[in-house]
Amino acid sequence: MADPFAEKRRWMVERQLRPRGIRDEAVLRAMDRVPRELFVEEGLRDSSYVDGPLPIGCGQTISQPFIVAYMTEALELSGRESVLEIGTGSGYQAAVLAETAARVYTVEVIPGLGAAARVLLEEKLGYRNVFFKVGRGQEGWTEHAPFDRILLTAAPAAFPPGLFGQLAEGGIALAPVGVDGQRLVRYHKQDGVVASDERIGVIFVPLV
Ligand code: SAH
Repeated sequence: MADPFAEKRRWMVERQLRPRGIRDEAVLRAMDRVPRELFVEEGLRDSSYVDGPLPIGCGQTISQPFIVAYMTEALELSGRESVLEIGTGSGYQAAVLAETAARVYTVEVIPGLGAAARVLLEEKLGYRNVFFKVGRGQEGWTEHAPFDRILLTAAPAAFPPGLFGQLAEGGIALAPVGVDGQRLVRYHKQDGVVASDERIGVIFVPLV
């Protein structure tokens, strides 16, 4: 039987993401492949392709599809990168990164969420290039550093300075930053120096 969600996914890509300016074909392909309905609470599956955030339990949310696509595109991935994600949540963003980068190291502070995401990505979806850790994301993951890309999906008041030390030369980091009103900030490390530029306004849960 045809997957009833495949059509909803196609609609999301063609009617929401492309018209709103997502251009990177690898990102659009990833959004078309990852079954978002499996990352939300069971009763919400029918709404899983509406362009908005949804609850995933423990008071946390899965980001809206456009923001996931926008952030993944802003990471300028070639497919060869090692990526650190802070804030595993449901694991949806990690799955999109698994489709567009070489390896994904994802850190979550709430043990139940980290464990559930691991079961879904490894056992149910069969990803072999995503590695999970429960802990405080501010500390990064020194054993696997440096990372070509670092993505925060929870908002700090200011980018955790220690994480810049785990960003590879030429690397890009992206984070929602701010307390009252957040902006997505993109950082680029060149010759050991980090330059930043602000992108769109966003709403993420705070980094705790
Ligand atoms: N990327 C997720 C959505 C992020 S929700 C997805 O695709 O579903 C933000 C997540 O960041 C929450 O799960 C929250 O528990 C987690 N978080 C908050 N502070 C954190 C910290 N200091 N270290 C790691 N994870 C953190």
